Amino acid sequence: MYDYLIVGSGLYGAVCAHELTQKGFSCLVVEKRNHLGGNIYTEEVEGIQVHKYGAHIFHTSNEEVWKYMNQFAKFNHYVNSPIARYHDECYNLPFNMNTFTKLWPNVFTPEEARIKIEEEKKDSFKENPSNLEEQALSLVGKTIYEKLIKGYTEKQWGKPCKELPAFIIKRLPVRYTFDNNYFNDIYQGIPIGGYTKIIEKMLAGIEVKLNYNFLEHKEQLSKMAKKIIYTGPIDEYYEYCFGPLEYRSIRFETEVLDMNNYQGNAVVNYTAEDIPFTRIIEHKHFDFGSQKKTVISKEFSSTWHTGDEPYYPINDQHNNDLYQKYKKLSLKDTKVVFGGRLGLYKYMDMDDIVESALEFVRGE
Ligand code: FAD
Ligand code: UDP
Repeated sequence: MYDYLIVGSGLYGAVCAHELTQKGFSCLVVEKRNHLGGNIYTEEVEGIQVHKYGAHIFHTSNEEVWKYMNQFAKFNHYVNSPIARYHDECYNLPFNMNTFTKLWPNVFTPEEARIKIEEEKKDSFKENPSNLEEQALSLVGKTIYEKLIKGYTEKQWGKPCKELPAFIIKRLPVRYTFDNNYFNDIYQGIPIGGYTKIIEKMLAGIEVKLNYNFLEHKEQLSKMAKKIIYTGPIDEYYEYCFGPLEYRSIRFETEVLDMNNYQGNAVVNYTAEDIPFTRIIEHKHFDFGSQKKTVISKEFSSTWHTGDEPYYPINDQHNNDLYQKYKKLSLKDTKVVFGGRLGLYKYMDMDDIVESALEFVRGE
């Protein structure tokens, strides 16, 4: 009998398994994929660490979490500074003085940028924006909304901006300095050697079964442990008894190119509506790579259907209400606890995941 059965070897499951083992508990990890790491999995192609399930940049302001992660890897000095491509125009992100001076040739100073953006917002400003379009127009005005937000967001979420919740873009910084750092956090970087190595270190010495879907062995596995930590989708665990939660999925088209530098930056967002993908990732630039070849991934955002990989929870009113029903049901179940971004149906960055896993283990 194990103390804990941990379903999923993503970051949440791995931190829990590592910390519970340190506390003297016995753990078994089951993972339905053929590899460890969940969505932060990286694999080496042509000497380049490829982020197989989308680009992952570690960033945090939580010192405990940063120190914790640094036990398992050395992080490099990568700072995320995406480029936005809109037709034949190229801009720096997030929205900052580099973006403003390029958009408006007679804007040079923060004061001139402020005046210009005030003018851009004047006809559409709303004190309490009720959807993403209103939020964007009230934050940065018409030109930035049309060139850098509308097309990208509608491709990403598959819905008009008018029908999307405002909170999605609230986290995008708007800065009146020449600072292209996408994040405001104190600590940032990419683990040298890739994320998979971190997970391997966390799970060293712990029993792991790969290619093993918990749901196909639910009864038998449930008898093997005192407690279950479940990091897969909560609705799937309960056999969609209240109906399925919605997600956005992503299709990645990855290519090895016989050139050393394709786009000069790790992340280029394609913000025009008529380009079918949202962004192109050139993986070597996360590590300042000097390999002869390069690997790029185009990201196509798509509607999620049962069986597809769920990437982004769609936290609108309907889905949040539905999630609450599953959560209520799970609270009656004393044997299983749900964790991670799928168990909690919540968009969580890696640092949030580590923080919440450490907090969970503290209570055990
Ligand atoms: P997961 O990594 O999804 O792990 C869950 C695991 O459970 C999976 O391995 C799955 O196969 C397994 N599983 C599910 N069901 C079963 C079952 N029935 N039986 C057995 N195994 C099962 N965060 C950042 O901080 N920075 C970023 O730059 C960033 N970029 C992102 C980009 C994209 C495209 C996406 C989608 C997310 C990004 N994130 C980023 C968020 C990050 O991916 C998550 O915080 C993190 O991976 C969540 O870890 P997790 O363990 O909760 O989930
Ligand atoms: N966004 C945008 N234009 C961009 C990048 C982002 O309009 O070039 C919006 C979009 O609505 C997106 C949100 O900002 O869903 C959050 O973007 P972020 O890059 O933080 O999300 P990620 O997809 O990387 O998790």
